[in-house]
Amino acid sequence: MRDWLSHRAAATPDDLAVIDADTDTRWSYSGLDAAVDETAGRLANLGVDAGDQVGTLLPRTFLGVCLLHAAQRLGVTLVPLNHRLTAEELAAQIDQLELTLVVCDIDTEPAAVEAVEEVPIASVDEPQWAAVKSFKDVEPAAIEPVEWQREEPQLIVFTSGSTGRPKPVVLTMGNLLSSAIASAFRLGVDPADRWLLTLSLYHVGGIAPIFRSTLYGTAVVVRSDFDPGQAADDLDRYDVTVVSLVPTMLKQMLDRRGTLSDSLRVVLLGGAPADDALLQRCENYSVPVHPTYGMTETASQVATARPTDAFDRPGTVGRPLLWTEVTVLGDNDEPVAPGESGELVVSGPTVTPGYYGEDGEAFCPYGLRTGDIGYRTEDGSLFVVNRIDDRITSGGETIDPGAIVAVLTDHAAIEAAAVVGVPDEQWGERVTALVVSTDDDLSAEAVDSHCREHLAGFKCPKTSVFADELPRTASGSVDRPAVREAVTAAIEDASVAA
Ligand code: ATP
Ligand code: MG
Repeated sequence: MRDWLSHRAAATPDDLAVIDADTDTRWSYSGLDAAVDETAGRLANLGVDAGDQVGTLLPRTFLGVCLLHAAQRLGVTLVPLNHRLTAEELAAQIDQLELTLVVCDIDTEPAAVEAVEEVPIASVDEPQWAAVKSFKDVEPAAIEPVEWQREEPQLIVFTSGSTGRPKPVVLTMGNLLSSAIASAFRLGVDPADRWLLTLSLYHVGGIAPIFRSTLYGTAVVVRSDFDPGQAADDLDRYDVTVVSLVPTMLKQMLDRRGTLSDSLRVVLLGGAPADDALLQRCENYSVPVHPTYGMTETASQVATARPTDAFDRPGTVGRPLLWTEVTVLGDNDEPVAPGESGELVVSGPTVTPGYYGEDGEAFCPYGLRTGDIGYRTEDGSLFVVNRIDDRITSGGETIDPGAIVAVLTDHAAIEAAAVVGVPDEQWGERVTALVVSTDDDLSAEAVDSHCREHLAGFKCPKTSVFADELPRTASGSVDRPAVREAVTAAIEDASVAA
């Protein structure tokens, strides 16, 4: 098949394709098609051919959307790089690739110039360095859309690097296509759908809606910055029906506006666990939340729950999408019974063929090892507990902090909690908790007796420390090293006081 936009623009040229909220401009499919032709023509005249890799260092803009489609049109593997990385981090990623061109803007040009040695650079703004070309000054060449095979690499996307260095994930045209279809069968498609882009264009969660909506013939709304109040207003202003969010973003939007627009059909919530308090707010305010488990290696969604499932069984991410299989492997690498937890292993047509330039270490006979711990219930609902790397070893026992967090947040006065191991002479690691409470009178003793009621003694936090909020990373997940620091500091303060 050719790039999906070519097919779409021929089928429904006059339908709405993109709303650029930064400039309040609307693009029909034929208008988008022409803009993408021009973008692809410029890439071609900058020396880019089918089969090449092109890196981008751009924020979430209309041009960023065009570059994704243009790469597909030219048969190019697009590598959307994180535009917030330092030059050194960027160089480490670029060294693993074979880029033909890097496209930057005025903000990312310094990092690009420092990080890139041999590869030509083009800026979409006025170039500041003599060696950098002006993307907009290049005459567009005439373009013939390239035919793709399903197994050809459409994207290389780096993982978030939560457990080490970000890994370059190859995603094929077939991976993206299967993901778009399976997602539509779970979420449904309404011809009037409008998907607000809120995640970065260097995350698979930010890219997927762009390709999907082209396939579905629906529209995306693109806005370069995320501000919770403005995002909530955009939902209303543009009659948005679908939005993807990480839990902190949703929480901030609800904090600002109380509830979200009635136009919403789907709030795809993933990237980190959604706590009970947030799900309860969604239920109270009729927010159509769809808790989702996904990752770069699976072109986004693995499993997605519908709101009724999410409210009935807080913590579930629902059943795997069509064609996707999740196996739970126990300690001996054999599948375990429902209810027992182990490493989640995913197989199916959305799963990457592998990391670029690396061997197949992450694969086992059951599929891709996710590094996540979880379990399935008898009816097939999936629960993600935590990452293997977050496991605590205390007194010879292996403890999953996610299960303890679930018990803590079941307490009526506990809004959020994080559980980490801190080094301990006697236990190896000591189970500790950082707790955010809605009740100033809640004592550490009350937290302890609540845990003892529901958990085996060795799992109960030996120290619980209260905080106003949990430290979080830029992507919204709990910043575990910062939690460890906060707890360690509190333990040291207490021992000094004693
Ligand atoms: P790296 O692989 O480099 O360590 P990363 O795994 O954070 O980074 P991503 O691919 O962006 O990179 O994130 C996918 C991971 O996010 C999943 O493997 C899982 O650990 C976590 N995750 C995603 N959705 C959920 C969810 N609903 N609940 C709990 N964890 C989730
Ligand atoms: Mg990962």
